[in-house]
This record gives sequence, structure tokens and C-alpha cells, in this order.
Amino acid sequence: MLTAPHPYDALMEITARPRIVFVQGKGSWLWDDSGKRYLDFIQGWAVNSLGHAPAELAKALSDQAARLITPSPAYFNDTSLQLAKALTDRSCFDQVFFTNSGAEANEGAIKLARKYGALRKNGAYEIITFEGGFHGRTLATMSASGKKAFEPLFEPKVPGFPKARLNDVASVEALISDNTVAIMLEPIQGEAGVWPATDKFLQQLQTLTTKHGLLLIVDEIQTGMGRTGKLFGYEHADVLPDIMTLGKGIGGGVPLAALLATDEASCFEHGDQGGTFNGNPLMCAAGLAVLDIIEKPEFLKAVADNGIYLESELQRISARHGLGEVRGRGLLLALDVVRPIAPAIVAHAFELGLLLNAPRPDALRFMPALNVTRDEIAAMIDTLDGILTKVGAARCVA
Ligand SMILES: *Cc1c(COP(=O)(O)O)cnc(C)c1O
Repeated sequence: MLTAPHPYDALMEITARPRIVFVQGKGSWLWDDSGKRYLDFIQGWAVNSLGHAPAELAKALSDQAARLITPSPAYFNDTSLQLAKALTDRSCFDQVFFTNSGAEANEGAIKLARKYGALRKNGAYEIITFEGGFHGRTLATMSASGKKAFEPLFEPKVPGFPKARLNDVASVEALISDNTVAIMLEPIQGEAGVWPATDKFLQQLQTLTTKHGLLLIVDEIQTGMGRTGKLFGYEHADVLPDIMTLGKGIGGGVPLAALLATDEASCFEHGDQGGTFNGNPLMCAAGLAVLDIIEKPEFLKAVADNGIYLESELQRISARHGLGEVRGRGLLLALDVVRPIAPAIVAHAFELGLLLNAPRPDALRFMPALNVTRDEIAAMIDTLDGILTKVGAARCVA
């Protein structure tokens, strides 16, 4: 007998998804189609800066949708001009190119650096990137990534991305040659398991790029837009990068990302870059609504304070259960669970209605909404504490 195909089967199977379907969200909470409620400490992978379905975002999108959705990327529109101005006013960059995903923004950063090399550095094209780095899933951004699991895939890769080691300036210096045009990194490696570049290392890279006339590119797709308690992660280290990419939280949940550059680095000519949906006012309206809220000093202070609270609570349960270090900044944190038990913890948490992420078998990552409350953090910690007690008891029996 033939069984009817399940609706799940109409989607390409690109990852192992639990067999439930989400239908609604509000703030830190999600509901599935059976009515079960989940406390969400993933938030679309650090995407929903203001939590699920914030009223301000819904209003900005519906107002813009009723006024103008897109006039074509060949014309200016008022909303993208406003967002570009707001981002350049608040950063060390002068110009913006909007994209639809983080990978596309990084692809643009790579093209911009290669263009700069072609125009100003005798065709230099190599971009030094880092072991463990993650820059996206297009062919060039997978090539730029230092993720082990990507290595055997989709060969041959795009050439020109020699890998250095994070927080090891000698390993960077050793790779610099006449072919080098830029150094590109995440201020905190997110996908690799929340490994921060130290402020000192970022300053050393700044010195190195200045000395050799290279571009410093920061991929702030995960660390930007308030996630670390400042609007941009690079501000903590007091450096002035030449190029930055933003994504994830910038649209509060809708597909919006951006490539930013200083006047000096912004060297695209007509025909070099473009895209049908790039800078469409509908997504830019979302970006403006999000920025309007998160840029407020009291909002960023609450992110930093809640980050410190979450960090100290994680340290407390780490000590209680004999686990490892807590890493990260603001509301992008990881807890080392030392042994490969993170996937089991995530599965337990899911059953109990708590969404957590395990970027590695021995680490948990926490990326709640930036407006998460103390009570929600406390509820997450309580559930996690209970799970760790069970997992610990199971280990003693075994
Ligand atoms: C998520 C992420 C990307 C890729 O962004 P997409 O929108 O998934 O293409 C690139 N860099 C970093 C640091 C990221 O966290």
C-alpha cells in the first residue's frame, strides 16, 4: 500500500529537524501546532533581536508594505537611504550595500576586497581568514570559512583564503605576502562555539593591516546590532575596521543584511555589484524599526547587564555540576560542558519546552532575544540545572 506523502517531504532535507511544526511566537516564547510552548534561547540563530513577532516590527512592515514594497534596485528609495544614513552615522563606515543574507554580504565583502586589490595593490587577492571561522554557505564564503566539516565539500573551493589561528598574531603575519589584500574575522567566532578574538588581538590586527596597507574586515553578522552590549562588536576593542558585514539581528527576523565600507575601501564601479531585492524598502523598514529600539543607551545597557547576569548564572551551575568555562560577551555566550553531552542536553531541553543550541558536542550556546527578561533567564537556568542533575545522575549510574 502506498502511504500519502507527508507535508514535511515537500521540503529538501538539509538538516535533522524535530517532527513538530511551529505556528506562533511572542517575545521569548514559541508555540507548536499541538499548543506546546517553548522558551526560545536560539531565536532563529541570534536573529530575532526583539524576540518573536514584536509589535513595532509588525507595524513597520505593514505600513511600508501598504506604501511601497520595491521600486527596483535601479532607483533610490527613501527607506533604504534612511537606514544607510543611520548605520553610517553610528559606525566608522561611510557607505552601505544592503543584501538579503549574511553570506551574500560576506560575498560582497570578498568581492570588494578583491576589487581594492585589483585597483590599488597590483592584483593582490588573498584574504587571510581563520581556523574555526564561519562566513556563510555560498561557495566563496564556505571557502573563506575555517570549518573542518566544510573541507571535503564542493571541491574545488574558491582559492585565496589562507587560514591563520585566532588570537595568534604570528600565525597571521606568517601568511602575509604580496598577494594579501585583507584580513577577515568574526570578533567572536559564533558557529565554532563562541570563541572571542581578544581586544588585544583585534588591536594587533589593526596595527598589522595599517603597516602592510591591508583591509581589516569584520564579519559582525552574529556580533553586530547590540548582541554584545554595544551596537557593534568592534567597539569593545577600539579598532576602526575598513569593512564590516551585518546580518542576522539587523532585520529582527526578516531577510536583511548589509556590507559597510569606509570611503577608502568603498571602490565598486558600475556593474561590479547588484541584486534584485537588494535594499528593498520593505526589509529596510524592518531594519529601521529594529535599530530605533536597540540603539538606545538604556537598551544596550540592559543587554550588557542581562549578559552579565546570564554569565554569572551559567558560572554558578557550571561550578555546581563540575562543568567548564563560560565564554562570550553580552547575550552571545557558551557553556563548556566538557564531555560530549551537549546534544543530549539539547534533546532533553526540547522535551521540556526549552530551545537550546549545541554548536559542538561539548558546548551549549545561548543567544536569547536582546530584550529577554531576568525571569526568562532564571527559568532557562532552572530547567538547565534540572537537566544537568539528571544527566549527572545518569553518568554516576553508568
Ligand atoms: C550566520 C552567519 C553568517 C551567514 O549568514 P546567513 O544569513 O546565514 O547567510 C556569516 N557569518 C557569521 C559570523 C554568521 O554568524
